[in-house]
Amino acid sequence: MHRLLVLFDLDNTLVDRRGTLADWAAEFTARHDLGDEERAYVLSMVAERAYPSTFDAIRTRYRLPMSAAELWQVYCADIAALVSCPAETLEGLDELRAAGWRVGVATNGASDIQRAKLRATGISERVDGVLVSKEADARKPQRQHFALAAARCGAVLGDGGWMVGDNPVNDIGGGRSAGLHTIWVSNGRSWPPPDPGPDHTVPHARAAIDHLLLHAADHARTTA
Ligand SMILES: [Mg+2]
Repeated sequence: MHRLLVLFDLDNTLVDRRGTLADWAAEFTARHDLGDEERAYVLSMVAERAYPSTFDAIRTRYRLPMSAAELWQVYCADIAALVSCPAETLEGLDELRAAGWRVGVATNGASDIQRAKLRATGISERVDGVLVSKEADARKPQRQHFALAAARCGAVLGDGGWMVGDNPVNDIGGGRSAGLHTIWVSNGRSWPPPDPGPDHTVPHARAAIDHLLLHAADHARTTA
């Protein structure tokens, strides 16, 4: 049987990164006695992108005694303890693989934090392959990112695969340019014109999985 490929973005697609970071910022500011007004500032520093260098700036601002590397390690452990993936989404990943899909994760970010989240949520053990951009120096929306992610799942691009994600440029524009069908996880937003839209829009990842399972059933019927 021909196995279809689907790649999922991680942050704000399979896991709620925004909510996790808000919880973390509250814990971090309480732990270091920084006061409530600093919570929003700390959050803004890690919200856009969090890398070890982010903690150089945080360490300097608050005159913390630990090194940036130590702060980064603690951050990775804290986030792993806070992050979760909804049970119905985890079950959906199992259902996709049981239905014959190859399932992968294609995510931008640093390897240790992304891998820590994937392990802590149980996503790691439910997918065929993972690509974290820093591991290969290939960020979404570059085609190379999607090609390497597909390869980690034992698949190739241009074979009817899908990309599911929340970012219009990185996930949807990038996925389309790589020859993938696209599903946009809107998280309550409307599509930003004038970018060409996705093939399908859903409110959350579980709805994307349901759409794919239906698609696979149709696909099986028409090719039977
Ligand atoms: Mg995302």
